[in-house]
Amino acid sequence: MALRHPIYDADSELIRDQIRRFIASEIEPYGEAWEEEGAFPRELYRKAGDAGLLGLGFEEEYGGSGGGLLYYCLAREEFAASGFSGVRVGLMAHGIGLPPILKLGSEALRQEIAPAVLAGDKIICLAISEPDAGSDVASIRTTARRDGDSYIVNGAKCFISNGVRADYMTVAVRTGGPGMAGVSLLVIPGDAPGVSRTAMKKVGWWTSDTAEIAFADVRVPAANLLGAENAGFRGIMNNFNLERLGIAASLIGISRCAYDETVRYAHERKTFGKALAEHQVVRHKLVDMRAGIEALQAMMDTLIWRVQQGEACIAEIAMLKAFGGEIQEKVAAEAAQIFGGAGMIRGHKVERIFRESKILSIGGGSAEVMKDLASRQLGW
Ligand SMILES: Cc1cc2nc3c(=O)[nH]c(=O)nc-3n(C[C@H](O)[C@H](O)[C@H](O)COP(=O)(O)OP(=O)(O)OC[C@H]3O[C@@H](n4cnc5c(N)ncnc54)[C@H](O)[C@@H]3O)c2cc1C
Repeated sequence: MALRHPIYDADSELIRDQIRRFIASEIEPYGEAWEEEGAFPRELYRKAGDAGLLGLGFEEEYGGSGGGLLYYCLAREEFAASGFSGVRVGLMAHGIGLPPILKLGSEALRQEIAPAVLAGDKIICLAISEPDAGSDVASIRTTARRDGDSYIVNGAKCFISNGVRADYMTVAVRTGGPGMAGVSLLVIPGDAPGVSRTAMKKVGWWTSDTAEIAFADVRVPAANLLGAENAGFRGIMNNFNLERLGIAASLIGISRCAYDETVRYAHERKTFGKALAEHQVVRHKLVDMRAGIEALQAMMDTLIWRVQQGEACIAEIAMLKAFGGEIQEKVAAEAAQIFGGAGMIRGHKVERIFRESKILSIGGGSAEVMKDLASRQLGW
């Protein structure tokens, strides 16, 4: 086996193997059927929680399995490599919903929510995007008005992963004036009166629920505020950095899956008397796919190491997220091309990966917005 970056050690490889075994026994046999049904069973959260997999990257004192950023990314890479992105997104959405609570919430809130989520007993989501505010987070309109010991929330969110099933929602709200200085983060229980949720049908990730959420005079305890009032924007931005590294890891896993499937198929499928892989043009495509994946992996591993050393690497993470999306889209397109007609037929990984290949160039900060952010961070 090829050597890995020195951030990985024997323990991380054991965890990688553990995730692969979990996928082989708990996801692989059912994943295609779940895709067609449009959901996976809620008990999968508990199984992943029992195996300690939801806790990867989270502090042990709150029920996590430890391992920091490295295990956080490793979990996302390996679940993505299963080729079942809907399951990965559903299982791993706590990776964006929970960190703001652990970083900014009261101790009581952390103790109430984190162990239950990491055990797989409760589900959480992060709700930032709105019908009129996606890339431009500072223009969100959902309001939270202080009323005694509560906030009264009104507004709407959209495209929220796990939004239908979530027991807890980490929500960006406007508590002050316009712009980023009026934004706060608030935890809203999924069953609070006045919350209504509707599933959105989408191009892919069918097993992951994606919700439109409406808030109509929802009363939320003021103790559910994360950090200081009107200081939520910074927390959201810090959380985006973590999310984007996790997305990069997922992009690597998805690309690896498409590449492995395609290498296998190119050796089986024969045209003009020989295997596809014996045609030089096809070999070049496979090498280009592999080169992109190697480049992404090297960039991500180095960035994990730099963040572990205390660097913020905001520009670099934004560039990795945008570049990762481009590589993954190319890998998915070439994989589908090499599969030919079979790549257009439902029921296997390459068709699904191709169909879903745009999502991560949009979600979590679009490619254009990432490049804009990187250019500003680079000082020009
Ligand atoms: C499947 C899925 C799951 C999601 N899950 C979540 C979730 O769990 N929680 C959550 O809060 N959000 C979630 N999102 C929302 C996602 O983060 C947004 O879709 C994304 O931030 C883009 O916002 P938008 O869709 O409103 O596009 P817009 O902001 O309207 O942008 C539309 C297009 O214009 C481009 N654009 C915008 N501004 C500029 C500019 N200044 N310069 C150049 N181009 C620009 C964008 O790049 C994009 O291509 C999810 C989205 C999807 C599709």
